[in-house]
Amino acid sequence: MERAVVVGGGLAGLVAARHLAERDVAVTLLERRPSVGGRVRTRHEDGFTFDRGFQVLLTGYPAVGRELDVEALDLRRFAPGACIARPGRRSVLSDPFRDPTALTESAFNTEVTVRDKLRTLLLRRKLSKRSWEAIPGERETTVREYLRRRGFSETFVENFAAPFYGGITLDRSLSTASRVFEYTFKALSSGRTAVPAEGMEAIPRQLRANAERAGAGVETGSTVTEVAVAGAADRVEADGGTPPVTERPADTEVRLAVGGETLVADAVVVATDPPTARDLTGVESVPTDGRSCVTQYYALDRELGVGPRIVLNAADDRPNQVVPHTAAAPEYAPDGRTLLSATFLGRPDADRETLAAETRTALGSWFPERSLSGFERLHTARVPFAQFDQPPGVHESLPDARDPVGPVYLAGDYTRWSSIDGAMESGRDAARAALADADLA
Ligand SMILES: Cc1cc2nc3c(=O)[nH]c(=O)nc-3n(C[C@H](O)[C@H](O)[C@H](O)COP(=O)(O)OP(=O)(O)OC[C@H]3O[C@@H](n4cnc5c(N)ncnc54)[C@H](O)[C@@H]3O)c2cc1C
Repeated sequence: MERAVVVGGGLAGLVAARHLAERDVAVTLLERRPSVGGRVRTRHEDGFTFDRGFQVLLTGYPAVGRELDVEALDLRRFAPGACIARPGRRSVLSDPFRDPTALTESAFNTEVTVRDKLRTLLLRRKLSKRSWEAIPGERETTVREYLRRRGFSETFVENFAAPFYGGITLDRSLSTASRVFEYTFKALSSGRTAVPAEGMEAIPRQLRANAERAGAGVETGSTVTEVAVAGAADRVEADGGTPPVTERPADTEVRLAVGGETLVADAVVVATDPPTARDLTGVESVPTDGRSCVTQYYALDRELGVGPRIVLNAADDRPNQVVPHTAAAPEYAPDGRTLLSATFLGRPDADRETLAAETRTALGSWFPERSLSGFERLHTARVPFAQFDQPPGVHESLPDARDPVGPVYLAGDYTRWSSIDGAMESGRDAARAALADADLA
């Protein structure tokens, strides 16, 4: 393999390009949008930093230490745990080992039971001893059932787990696969929850720089409309209809249609979003059902006074959570101003003004003693496809990097699990498969 093309410059494609280029393959990455990053994007406007949806980097994920220079990202941390809010009442629930300042408040928190607090510590110990490869540890179920089986109370599930893990999985019903809970719980308890001072897009910017340093070329504004393996149809016929999934003759080439031109490569990594990957490769097992959210940003004259802690809505999901961004990352707003966001799960029909009014009402009921002066709606990010849907069992049916016909490989969170970690792991998987098939591993 001398020439490879990576289609898509999200985290998966950027990592794949780097690993291929490091083995002296001439790699070109083609990205449809004007900038790389895919679902991890940031908009800078009037001195404010708006990530496209509330996203955080969990430094505990295994791929983070391997693919990123975490120090160079200049991270700003959120406090562990959360502030649980409902009309007229707020309380802090944190990890006493990592946030001793919240020890007393957490100990007296009545939104969950004393047994829940002990069970959380036991689960933390159990999962910290288990390797990443050993997840899931047992027969998979939903997050809700997983917590019930472990004896967590209904109040813990409703008051804390539903808004907290609902915010992570964009699914407040907790019907997501329990392995997603295990991965995130293990990462949350072993590392930091943080954002780069310059916004989440600093992550793909660093991955792009790494890929280019290794020798990869990155072209933005290039949309690939077709990926065709030369001779693939003949080989399918000769094989009696069985797709030659493992047959990768050295002389096979792949043709790509890019804006009226045809490019030729020895291998192609398709690292687009899942629906586009399915269209380009015809691999039916690429999941295309997605989870959505809307994140709205606001300015305020003063901080909420909860520190760098996510505020969970224990009463209902309008909004699911509010994040005091500048309490963690003052750089997210100009001139010492305060930046908050509120995230609504799914695809709320309501217009921007109605969503802002709902957030203001919720904040007013949670913080009756505080003035909300200066409350101003700044930006609304509607994200129709944020994560692929992950019900129990879905991970066993996900496609493999080698599933397409010929020297075409799949990379994307949907080959692993929907996260920054899953996307970066998948990029490495695809590059390794392509290198191994070309005897370059
Ligand atoms: C709102 C939101 C919140 C999230 N929160 C978190 C979080 O807190 N922590 C976490 O770990 N994960 C989070 N995630 C998930 C994580 O961001 C994704 O799993 C990950 O970024 C997916 O990366 P990817 O490279 O697989 O795909 P994508 O990011 O979808 O990248 C695909 C790329 O392919 C390009 N492309 C598509 N079609 C073509 C084409 N025809 N030709 C050329 N290029 C093409 C696209 O423009 C895009 O750049 C969140 C996601 C969202 C949206």
